[in-house]
Amino acid sequence: MIEVVSSSRCISCGQCVSVCPTRVFDESPSGMPVIARQDDCQTCFMCELYCPVDALYVSPHDHPVNVPGELELAQSGLLGSYREQVGWGRGRSPGAANDKSYLMFRAMQKTPGH
Ligand code: SF4
Ligand code: SF4
Repeated sequence: MIEVVSSSRCISCGQCVSVCPTRVFDESPSGMPVIARQDDCQTCFMCELYCPVDALYVSPHDHPVNVPGELELAQSGLLGSYREQVGWGRGRSPGAANDKSYLMFRAMQKTPGH
């Protein structure tokens, strides 16, 4: 569930507001997103993936939890950590490169009937 928008990192690009499928965010007059409907969050991580400056933290829980403050999240590398793991962002390796499901696909293609 979306928990934090980092006010020190956010550049008010509006990407998270646009990609959220359940319209969790409102855009404040400054352009910074506000978590307006947290209960509607589906924990899909789309906002975190699309944030170009790793300003968002989506926790893996489907309910609100007590998360550390913004500074602590940043220092521990949790801000944007899902995005980092998937490999989105400059200088990162695509996480899909670690996906070995193609091996299973290959094996299936060799199986009679496929
Ligand atoms: S995790 Fe998904 S549903 Fe939740 S705020 Fe981000 S984009 Fe919206
Ligand atoms: S995607 Fe990131 S930088 Fe852009 S508005 Fe949302 S939190 Fe701010």
